[in-house]
Amino acid sequence: MNRIVVIGAGQAGASLVAKLRMLGFAGEITLIGAEPVPPYQRPPLSKAYLLGEMTLERLFLRPESFYADQGITLRLGQPVSAIDPVARTVTLGGELLEYDALALTTGSLPRHLPALIGGDLPGVHVVRALADVDAMAPEFQPGRRVVIVGGGYIGLEAAAVAAKKGLDVTVLEMAPRILQRVAAPETSDAIRALHQAHGVKILEATGLERIEGTSRVEGVSLSDGRRLAADFVIAGIGILPDTALAEAAGLEIENGIRTDAQGRTSDPHIWAAGDCASFPWRGAQLRLESVQNAIDQAELVAANMLGAGKDYAPVPWFWSDQYDLKLQIAGLNTGYDRVVLREADARSHWYFAGGKFLAVDALNDPRAYMVGKRLLEQGKSPEPALLADPATDLKLLLKA
Ligand SMILES: Cc1cc2nc3c(=O)[nH]c(=O)nc-3n(C[C@H](O)[C@H](O)[C@H](O)COP(=O)(O)OP(=O)(O)OC[C@H]3O[C@@H](n4cnc5c(N)ncnc54)[C@H](O)[C@@H]3O)c2cc1C
Repeated sequence: MNRIVVIGAGQAGASLVAKLRMLGFAGEITLIGAEPVPPYQRPPLSKAYLLGEMTLERLFLRPESFYADQGITLRLGQPVSAIDPVARTVTLGGELLEYDALALTTGSLPRHLPALIGGDLPGVHVVRALADVDAMAPEFQPGRRVVIVGGGYIGLEAAAVAAKKGLDVTVLEMAPRILQRVAAPETSDAIRALHQAHGVKILEATGLERIEGTSRVEGVSLSDGRRLAADFVIAGIGILPDTALAEAAGLEIENGIRTDAQGRTSDPHIWAAGDCASFPWRGAQLRLESVQNAIDQAELVAANMLGAGKDYAPVPWFWSDQYDLKLQIAGLNTGYDRVVLREADARSHWYFAGGKFLAVDALNDPRAYMVGKRLLEQGKSPEPALLADPATDLKLLLKA
């Protein structure tokens, strides 16, 4: 194998190509990105970068010279439009690039509010790419009114930045509570209270009927009949894996581009990693939307492209920054039937299913996060009564 092509120059793509060289692959590597900039980190887009506390240079995962130094060809600013899995070529503009092995790290696309309800009016924004945030940032002026549709992590982080900048902020959440899809009521309650303390209005169990305005956003009407004036709207209503190219090439799709435990798609010469890829996990195809997953899965795929034959067995972790709160999450809480609250110096919420420890939400509590992550790595379930007792030294649970 001499030529590896990677489609998608984001977190996973950048990790994959760097790892290939680190593992000694000496052939040709081409990393292709639709965006006009080298691979960058997305998390600061809804945090420090949006707040104006981080420069563009610091967003980049590596300086552009890194790729040249490593003999990695970067092709930026144009998407791959087709893959021919039989000829083993990809189409880039008028060119056909040949590959021996191909990796898809195409990430995900933000869901948009339908045009039918005003989703295409100027002043409606999404938060996915650098270009989205650069277009939205000038709207963040003190005193302006923003309505954020969706009380998930991205929407809430944007709300925190807007509140810090002195905007009038309303978050709309259709579900009965914010973060319902990803967290226990205890975590939702703590984060709701934090936002309310900063003056953010949180309207739960409230849907968006339509966005109003003639030439740009002027307000929103709600499912309960109310109307709110708004200068701009942010849609934080989730993402969809970017599978269009894979689908057109005839690859199997199941909750993203379907891969086996080693990251190989239904075509033996094509691999996938990051937000766009799903992998076998407890009898289903799981897809994770996190930096940890993008890096770990991409590095594993790099090793497996070179014949390592390793399976992906992640202990997922995630974080969110809102105001002075750092929320750190280890594990996946899917299927939990019990939440144990620990209030020592800080707070943490521990998820269990049938007595088995699944995940922890640690609120400004790095020790709880670290211990929770280690327990998951070791496959241990701590005693709930010990966890709940603020006198328990958490580190001792690792030795139990
Ligand atoms: C605002 C924001 C905040 C976030 N905060 C956190 C956080 O706090 N913690 C956390 O763990 N995760 C966070 N995430 C999620 C994390 O950034 C993603 O999970 C991660 O970026 C996924 O990496 P990826 O490489 O799979 O996809 P991406 O980083 O999205 O990269 C995919 C790239 O592929 C390109 N591409 C797609 N199709 C083509 C094509 N046909 N040809 C060429 N290029 C193509 C896209 O343009 C894109 O540049 C956040 C995401 C966003 C948007």
